[in-house]
Amino acid sequence: MSNQLKITFLGTGTSQGIPVIGCRCDVCVSDDPRDKRLRSSILVQYGETNVVIDAGPDFRQQMLTCGIDHMDALILTHEHKDHIAGMDDVRAFNRISGDAVKVYCEERVSEVVKTEFSYAFKNFRYPGIPKFDIHLIDDKTPLVLQGEPFMPVRCMHYKLPVLGFRIRNFAYLTDLSSIPEREISKLQNLEVLVIDALRHEPHISHYNLEQALEVVEHLKPGKAYLTHISHGMIKHSEVLKQLPANVEPAYDGLKLIL
Ligand SMILES: [Zn+2]
Ligand SMILES: [Zn+2]
Ligand SMILES: [Zn+2]
Repeated sequence: MSNQLKITFLGTGTSQGIPVIGCRCDVCVSDDPRDKRLRSSILVQYGETNVVIDAGPDFRQQMLTCGIDHMDALILTHEHKDHIAGMDDVRAFNRISGDAVKVYCEERVSEVVKTEFSYAFKNFRYPGIPKFDIHLIDDKTPLVLQGEPFMPVRCMHYKLPVLGFRIRNFAYLTDLSSIPEREISKLQNLEVLVIDALRHEPHISHYNLEQALEVVEHLKPGKAYLTHISHGMIKHSEVLKQLPANVEPAYDGLKLIL
């Protein structure tokens, strides 16, 4: 029981979320709760440990919904706003624990965080500002959090190097348009693969549905879930009918126990 790995999809939408402000397309007006997508993020839990991957603009709402009261680590895949914009709200966890929140990211990402949240890194600390404890990671070294290894997987988001993560037989790859050949060995024998599938039409920096399905076919995970979905993907219930039996779109609130 305590050794289970529990994954909660906190958000499965692209940078604009779904519905898109002002849009009246079929997907944006759908009343299926699975077509409402906050910005992409997952919660990884094992034992008493809570690890969150990415903290976009919906971070506060996502934390309220999942109900966690402590965060052992925040891992950032890359520095795009839809993955870091909500970081100011770690203040709630600072207050409860009386300590900084540990943030794990690559050096380039840390520089952006220090610019975007410059007030949190000044020598004089105003009361109530967020406290981050940044730890640098790279694509070669497993990040071990409370005894559990998170293996970083280098992915390319067009020209931007980003990180995916493998935890046991689960892998989370968001915001990518290719995987360097040398990284493929890290993605063998997966029980579950989560992969970026933005929409039907091609996109320069994200896999579209067809490309994501090719990766799934190549890696042969037991099961694959699509994430970082835009309103350029048809409704959840409709796309589900077109997918192979071992693939489904993830949706906000979906929980997996591995
Ligand atoms: Zn994104
Ligand atoms: Zn729309
Ligand atoms: Zn991105």
